[in-house]
Amino acid sequence: MNFKPLFDRPTQRPLRIAGPCSAESEEQVLVTAKALAAQDIDLFRAGIWKPRTRPNSFEGVGTIGLKWLRKVKEETGLKVTTEVAKRDHVFEALKYQVDVLWIGARTTVNPFAVQEIADALDGVDIPVLIKNPINPDLGLWIGAIERIYKAGIKRIGVIHRGFSSHRNSRYRNEPHWNLPIELMRRLPGLTYICDNSHICGNRHMLEEIAQKAMDLNFTGLMTETHPNPDEAWSDAKQQITPVVYSEMMERLTIRDQTTDDPVFLHNLEDLRGEIDHLDEEILTLLGQRMQVAEKIGMYKKRNNISILQPNRWNDILEEAFVKGSRHGLSQDFVTKLLSAVHQESISHQEVVMNKKDVDVKS
Ligand code: PEP
Ligand code: MN
Repeated sequence: MNFKPLFDRPTQRPLRIAGPCSAESEEQVLVTAKALAAQDIDLFRAGIWKPRTRPNSFEGVGTIGLKWLRKVKEETGLKVTTEVAKRDHVFEALKYQVDVLWIGARTTVNPFAVQEIADALDGVDIPVLIKNPINPDLGLWIGAIERIYKAGIKRIGVIHRGFSSHRNSRYRNEPHWNLPIELMRRLPGLTYICDNSHICGNRHMLEEIAQKAMDLNFTGLMTETHPNPDEAWSDAKQQITPVVYSEMMERLTIRDQTTDDPVFLHNLEDLRGEIDHLDEEILTLLGQRMQVAEKIGMYKKRNNISILQPNRWNDILEEAFVKGSRHGLSQDFVTKLLSAVHQESISHQEVVMNKKDVDVKS
């Protein structure tokens, strides 16, 4: 796929998308937009049709909000964006000259809905932002990108807004940075936005997540702003005033993605050489570990013993936590790493166990 930037803008600073979660009144929309225009944002957001998890929450003002967005364009010169979840939303938004459309997390998850939007957009040249699906499924996210691309749209951005989780978490929607990072590797031409508001669900973590996104080379941020956040009709806890927004943006450290300084490049090369060497050693050791696992598999087969030994697995993990912490490795990392190693070990043992002609006498 051959993607294009969303629109012309100075690329040395982050793309700034800001505005209220929901359009509530003409006055609220215009007051917010004027304050944000003074902060030089690139795109004004406001939800008109709000997909809410439960009924009886505020579900958006509907089409009248598009008139307010058009007024924002006329009075501030800002580009505007709103969420579309079905065919009629697309037609209405296009009728009112919305500049950019976004597809929400609850829509990306549904291929029928995404296809309906793609069909409505067939042949229309408008940038589209695609939020990650609510569950951490990279295939679904890529599927939505492909459907929109196939409609002829090349100006596509993706928004990491975090993922629902059954665990207790400090986030409203847990970020899984590995998904956008993998997407960056596979689809480098996309525009990468981080929606720090929906990841955090509160105000005090917004800056930390924004900085993290900048350090991971995201193109920009989408942040909910409201003139009176505590009174917002939706997502009140995570919204900030335009002034607080601009202070946050000022404090962010924006680092260069690369440099042509030869000393830096030389030192980096050396360190990367060390990393590559260590990675190779890790892989060699893992290969050796699997050979031992296969021997165990043969031995278990001979003695008719099952592969999974829960107590043994528990002991391995407990011990690895202690050893890992001595090397500065978190429990979370040790669990993920050893679970993957254990799973691979089981697969190797399964092959050995289920092989008909294996020599079990050795
Ligand atoms: C929103 O941006 O207001 C929104 C509903 O977001 P999400 O689709 O990420 O939940
Ligand atoms: Mn919101």
